[in-house]
Amino acid sequence: MSESSQIVAYIGLGSNLESPRQQVSRALDELGDLPETHCTARSLLYRTPPMGPPDQPDYINAVAAVTTSLSAEMLLEELQRLERLHWRVRNGERWGPRTLDLDLLLFGHQQIKTSRLIVPHPGLGERAFVLYPLAEIAPPGLDIPLLGSLSGLLERISGDGIEKVV
Ligand code: ATP
Ligand code: MG
Ligand code: MG
Repeated sequence: MSESSQIVAYIGLGSNLESPRQQVSRALDELGDLPETHCTARSLLYRTPPMGPPDQPDYINAVAAVTTSLSAEMLLEELQRLERLHWRVRNGERWGPRTLDLDLLLFGHQQIKTSRLIVPHPGLGERAFVLYPLAEIAPPGLDIPLLGSLSGLLERISGDGIEKVV
C-alpha cells in the first residue's frame, strides 16, 4: 500500500461502565492493532459529566489519531467490532451508559453522509469532551470540514466540568 493512500483519521473514545479508564486505555491499544492502521497519537484521559440522561456515571473520554488505508466504512466496521468486543449493549436509550463508544470524528478532509456514517461526526463542534482531547493531539490550525478551525471551535466552548485524569 503506498504512502499516498494513507488517511489521517481521529477517533473519539468514551466509557462510563465497567472500569471506564481500563476500557478506554485498552481500546487505545486496540486501535493500533487494527488492520492497515497505525495509531500515531493519543490524548490523555478526561473525566467528563454525562451528556445524555443525568442519572449515569461520569465518562472517561479520549481522542486518538490514526493513519489508515482502510475506507471510512471499513474503519467504522472495525470500530463497531471493538465496541462489541467490549460488550457494548445498546438498550435503545439515546446517549445512555456504555462500556465503550468509538466515534469516527474526522477522516482526512472528507465529508461523508450515508445512512450509517456521517463525517465530520455531527457532535464534534459542540462537545467539549471531544474538542479538548482532540486539541491535545491535533494541530490548532486543523481545518474541519463545515466547521472551520479547531482553535475557533475551542474559543466558543466551555471546558467547565471536564478534567484531565492524572
Ligand atoms: P453520538 O453519535 O451522538 O455520539 P452515540 O455515539 O451514542 O451517539 P451510537 O449508538 O454509538 O451513537 O451510534 C449510532 C449509529 O451512529 C451507529 O450505528 C453508526 O452507524 C452511526 N454513525 C453515524 N456517523 C458515525 C460516526 N461518525 N461515528 C460513529 N458512528 C456513526
Ligand atoms: Mg458517541
Ligand atoms: Mg457512537
